[in-house]
Amino acid sequence: MAKSEKFSLKVLIDDKRNKVVFAEADQDFVDVLFSLLTLPMGKIVRLLENHKSLKTDVLGCFKNLHRSVADMGNDHFETNAWKSMLLHPISNKEFHCRNLKLNMSHADPNKMFTCPRYTCSSRAYSNFNTTRCTCGCLMSNQNCSPDVIPCNAYGVFVNCRSSFIVTDDLKVSENSIGVIMKVLNDLGYTGYSGLREVLLDVGYEEVLTLLGCLFTSEVPLTCAFLRKHCTTRMHKMLSPPALKSGDVVDAARACSVKVFVRKLDREVLYAECNEDLLDSLLSFLVLPLELACSLSNDNTILGCVGNLCRSPCRGGASKSWHLPDYYICSNNNLLDHLRKSYSICGTGFMQKKTKFVVSNDLIITPMSSSSTIGLLKKMQVDISDLEEYQISISKAELISILRASLISSSALTNGLSSLLVKKPKQET
Ligand SMILES: [Zn+2]
Repeated sequence: MAKSEKFSLKVLIDDKRNKVVFAEADQDFVDVLFSLLTLPMGKIVRLLENHKSLKTDVLGCFKNLHRSVADMGNDHFETNAWKSMLLHPISNKEFHCRNLKLNMSHADPNKMFTCPRYTCSSRAYSNFNTTRCTCGCLMSNQNCSPDVIPCNAYGVFVNCRSSFIVTDDLKVSENSIGVIMKVLNDLGYTGYSGLREVLLDVGYEEVLTLLGCLFTSEVPLTCAFLRKHCTTRMHKMLSPPALKSGDVVDAARACSVKVFVRKLDREVLYAECNEDLLDSLLSFLVLPLELACSLSNDNTILGCVGNLCRSPCRGGASKSWHLPDYYICSNNNLLDHLRKSYSICGTGFMQKKTKFVVSNDLIITPMSSSSTIGLLKKMQVDISDLEEYQISISKAELISILRASLISSSALTNGLSSLLVKKPKQET
């Protein structure tokens, strides 16, 4: 679990094509790989923020959500614990991860404080012992959960004791000659000739690079270990919002939002909304990678994360939800499908009856502390160049914004384009 832990990864490389063919990994490394799926997106932002080895900009304007929370005053949040909980989100698997040889989530247990009152029903936590609980107490109780949760004999997230084959697009299988033959065959190789076996030392820094490459590349092993500049995904077209089969669009469950569009190029400059939309937008930060992927993956982005999720080698602690129930709030349209399976619901992250301005690249400012004149000046736009739309944002649009935020700096323009082409000024 130390940051200095190193794994030996046997990697088969095709020098001619400058490509990793596959890697042979032990169970401890594959467990770390699977644990990446449990990391909350806000945590991933923090991890990648200061990671220098990434050559490309990852996570589009998604990062701005995190920055906006950091920049907003405590008084805009429903309770001031929320600010800390959004900035330092944890997953349900936090304690499982402490069994890993290398724990990427490493939330500091000495920096988690809860309410000391025995009868208090709040399940909030804070990274500061100066935060006040909803019941009025200072949250001074140092988190005293068990250090580790016992795991099965095989590992934490893997379902068998074996070594594994990991393909460049992160399909993980139990090691066998048959699997290797199939991988080589599928890639058009008739044998090992021309391929070189390399033993790599992979530790904390390398896993961070790999984590970053999940968002920019469909071949993250090549991207991370051969230091190839990978920007393939950035140029892909975004498809219109798609709902998974079984999803029902509930018109009542939508936020009404006013958006301002520049006539010239149809860019959404900013949106005016209330706390309802914010509660949904900010929940992007608490989504574990697996859930963010299952919501937004449509085979155009996060394909390799999808492969990792679908691996038949996952078991044990992978089987249950990763999202703590206190993050599920009653007005969250993005996670409405989860609300049914959780009994407790929070009331939302943000202070009620508050107006916010959200920019195209997801910088959020409370209306009370923003200057609309300043905003328009910054955009260098005349009032006559602007068109106002009243639209409803439901789950489909939220998913579309989420997807756009991960790969572009125009989350609102790309995420809402399908609503803004046909129906100007339509009231909802
Ligand atoms: Zn309390």
